Amino acid sequence: MSRLNIGAHLSISGGLKGLLKEAEETGSSCFQFFMRNPRGGKAKDYPESEIELFRKTSSERGLGPLLVHAPYTMNPAAKKPELREYALETMADDIKRASAFGNAMYNFHPGSHVGQGAEKGIDLISDLLNRLLTEDTAIPVLLETMAGKGSEVGSRFEELRAIIDRTELRDRLGVCLDTCHIYDGGYDIRNDLDGVLAEFDRTIGLERLRAIHLNDSVFGYASHKDRHAKIGEGGLGTEAISRIINHPLLRNLPFYLETPNDISGYAKEILLLRSLAS
Ligand code: FE
Ligand code: FE
Ligand code: ZN
Repeated sequence: MSRLNIGAHLSISGGLKGLLKEAEETGSSCFQFFMRNPRGGKAKDYPESEIELFRKTSSERGLGPLLVHAPYTMNPAAKKPELREYALETMADDIKRASAFGNAMYNFHPGSHVGQGAEKGIDLISDLLNRLLTEDTAIPVLLETMAGKGSEVGSRFEELRAIIDRTELRDRLGVCLDTCHIYDGGYDIRNDLDGVLAEFDRTIGLERLRAIHLNDSVFGYASHKDRHAKIGEGGLGTEAISRIINHPLLRNLPFYLETPNDISGYAKEILLLRSLAS
């Protein structure tokens, strides 16, 4: 395998064994998955022995970090308190389960302010994080950069910075940069990657950057649409994506694909990206 740490978004529907199988079939050296149905619902319990074997096998194969993605329908900035409570409970449960997997991180969409305004949204999200995070939180919790679709919070680096600033245990927080989302959100990583990274560093700090969601974009620059394309088939294109995976400030991060692919499509895409990695 190449030096590039890259993997696909895999399905947990075949259990922990299924994840390892899909990781192998796609050539992933790290991977992402939903702990539960992304539309919500209950997570499956796995026997301790199965989790132990999963941990052992992934560490033997040098797999990781595993990125657990929160359900995308929950909203930490919801208007109704019971919906925010549901988000808090779901995240706490996901994090507890993910921590048992060993080398893992947890990624979530900050939320949508649904007309309450971004300021209010930022307050609600940091309030939730202040209840969620404890000294015992064992894995990094990552805020994902968003495309700014609808009333999404977190499409501007300043908003993520404000959430982090208002969170007490901010040493537990990191950021996952989604290339489709920030390009759609109006950060021109196709023509000015250096400039965007400098802005990220000034606003958030590159030390917070823990993971990259590597996606091309169907609608492209400043579209605020959030529709992922296969690598090279969108507005970013293969050359810009090659600059991203090889950039000195990014090349050692784990890259997770969330492109519209089946297993063999992911395998091909990962091969292509490994061939582009220098
Ligand atoms: Fe996401
Ligand atoms: Fe993403
Ligand atoms: Zn997306």
